[in-house]
This record gives sequence, structure tokens and C-alpha cells, in this order.
Amino acid sequence: MRKIHVKASREYDILIGNGLLKKAASLIADACGRPETVIVSDDTVYGLYGEDLKKDLEAEGFAVKSFVFPHGERNKNLETYGELQEFLSENGITRNGLIAALGGGVTGDLAGFAAATYQRGIRFVQIPTTLLADVDSSVGGKTAVDLKSGKNQTGCFYQPSMVICDPETLKTLPEEEFLCGCAEVIKYAVYGNRELFDFLKTEEIRDHLEEVIAVCVTMKRDLVEADEFDTGKRMMLNFGHTFGHGVESCSDFSILHGQAVAIGMAVMTRAACAKGYCTEETVTMLEEILKQYGLPDRASCSKEELLQAVLKDKKRKSGTMRIVVPRRIGSCMIEEIPAEALPEWIAEGGLI
Ligand code: NAD
Ligand code: MG
Repeated sequence: MRKIHVKASREYDILIGNGLLKKAASLIADACGRPETVIVSDDTVYGLYGEDLKKDLEAEGFAVKSFVFPHGERNKNLETYGELQEFLSENGITRNGLIAALGGGVTGDLAGFAAATYQRGIRFVQIPTTLLADVDSSVGGKTAVDLKSGKNQTGCFYQPSMVICDPETLKTLPEEEFLCGCAEVIKYAVYGNRELFDFLKTEEIRDHLEEVIAVCVTMKRDLVEADEFDTGKRMMLNFGHTFGHGVESCSDFSILHGQAVAIGMAVMTRAACAKGYCTEETVTMLEEILKQYGLPDRASCSKEELLQAVLKDKKRKSGTMRIVVPRRIGSCMIEEIPAEALPEWIAEGGLI
């Protein structure tokens, strides 16, 4: 088992290890005592792992209730959030209570926001079951639900009390979802870890999940400790996301987030090369690794559609915006560009 400690507005451990889910009950008891606990999970994940976790917690002396909602991003909304709040209240959960978020980023974001706001904040534990949640969403305390106008439009920063990552849960994750997590892993490598990049190129990631997750989480921990509230350095994690979000919304969300991020990284890197920030070699290396991981590097939307989507996402037509630009594999920089320069970046990024 690997342990990574985070010092943010709340201090907590991230535990990573094969088979940890089976030990979750005693790990939670050690860190939080035995408060009344509500497992929050989507129907797919609860069907796979929920009842076992509930039994383990009960055997450990916890009183446990389960809140299960239909899987999918479209349920990360105010309605599910409201139902969860009422569920907590109906079941008499007090300020001493605990939420165990068992699932991917949708579950973690929803459960975290509910924990942050129910009776002005109860503790919560993240138990991620997707690679994306392992390396990104379970760490760092961003919680949210979506509004009709866009993703993550209402939420807050609220750190968990503990994160328990068991890479064995990824065995049941659909391949496509796993590869989306790989896109985020590649993002970490390109923005700041050449060694990880070389490792991903030569090793079979599935044989080294504990290690890869630990490396990514340590990088995220460092950014969160330096910039918990995302006003500076933490923006590095947005590499590939400015154009990625645009590609995602142009496709009407038929392209998965990780696939869109892959395209977003490629568009940004090709544009960076045209502008002299990095060399052709950087572009080739990125395109090759995306291909190796079955990820796309071009989109099927037009430059105009992407421009409109990015401007809408950033909600600005003039002024400046910050983008994450690669200098070489393992090193990126944050650049402030005028919004008027965006069409040129997109043109140079070579979409199709
Ligand atoms: P998700 O939670 O919807 O999971 C993807 C799908 O996989 C779901 O259908 C789920 O039921 C299924 N699934 C999950 N674990 C499984 C398992 N072990 N076996 C079988 N099926 C499993 O999506 P995600 O990709 O994990 O997360 C995406 C969400 O994360 C988005 O809402 C995004 O906004 C959010 N996010 C948040 C942060 C943050 O910092 N808070 C960072 C990145 C992304
Ligand atoms: Mg992402």
C-alpha cells in the first residue's frame, strides 16, 4: 500500500493499493471512528461493489444506509443532489455523520458537494472506481453538480477526510472508460513528468497501476498544496481541456471526456509548435502515445464550431484567457493570450 499525505484546508491521506476496498471499513474506522455512514454510489458501481462494502462496514460496527442513483453525467444535477440531501435528513444523519462516495468522478463530485453542504458540512471519504477518479477527481476537493447551462456550474472546494484507491476495481471498468483515464495520465506526463511519459511508452500500464496512480496523485497533491483554490499553478491540470471542453460540447457529448482531452492536447501542441513554443518532435511524440493508447488526436467539428464552443465555455468574447502550452514533453507553461488570438491557435492546431 502507498500512502500520500495532503496538507490542504483539511489534511488527509490518499491510500493506494490492490485489494484495499476489502479493507476500507477498518481503514475508515481508523481515520474517522464509526459514525453513521451513507454510501453514495451509482447503480452500476453499487451493483458491483456496494453490498460488500455495506456488509464490511456493518461487520466493523458502522450503522450504514445506501443512496443509489442512476449512473451517468446527466444525473450529476440539482435533482439528484436534492434527493440525497432529503435522504440524509430522513435518515437522521447528524453533523457527526459520514458519506462514503463509491464510484467514478460523477459520484465523487455529487457526494462531495452534498457532504460539503448538508448541515453545513459533514465528513466524506472518496473511494474511486474509475482511473479518472483515481488520478484526478477524487483528490483536491473540487465538488460540484451540473446546471442546465453547463458542467460543474454549482459547487465548492471541500476536501475529503480520506481517499481509498483500489486499482483492482478497474478490472470491471469498460475499456473505453479506462482509456479515458489514460488520457488524463498522459496529461500529467506531458505537463510535468518526462519520466512518466517514457514509462507509459514502454510499459503496460495495467501491470503498474498502483505506481502510475501514485505518481499522478503526488503531482496533483503538489499542485493542490501550492494552489488549493485554483487561481494559479493548479491550472496546469487544464492542459488539453480548453480545446477539449470545446470538442466535447461540439460533439454534443458523444465524444467521451478523455477522448476530447486527447484531441485538445493534440490541437494545443500542434498550435504551440506552429508558434515556436515547442518542436515538431514534441508533436510527434504526443500523437504517437495517443495512438498507442487508442485515443484520437483529431476532431470532426469545424474550426468555427470549436471557436464558438470555446468562447461559450470561457464565457468571454474579448479580454484575455489563460491556456496551458507545452514547451516539450514534461514541461508546460501557462500563457495569457487575447481572446482575439484564439482563431489563429485553432487554425494552427489542425483539427481534422
Ligand atoms: P463516471 O463516474 O460517470 O464513471 C464512468 C462510468 O463508469 C459510469 O457509467 C459508471 O457507472 C461506470 N463505472 C465506474 N466505476 C466502474 C467500475 N469499477 N466498473 C464498472 N463500471 C464502472 O465518470 P468518470 O469518468 O469517473 O468521472 C467524470 C466526472 O468527473 C465528470 O463529471 C467530471 O466533471 C468529474 N471530474 C471532476 C474532477 C474534480 O477535480 N472534482 C476532475 C476531473 C473530472
Ligand atoms: Mg479532465
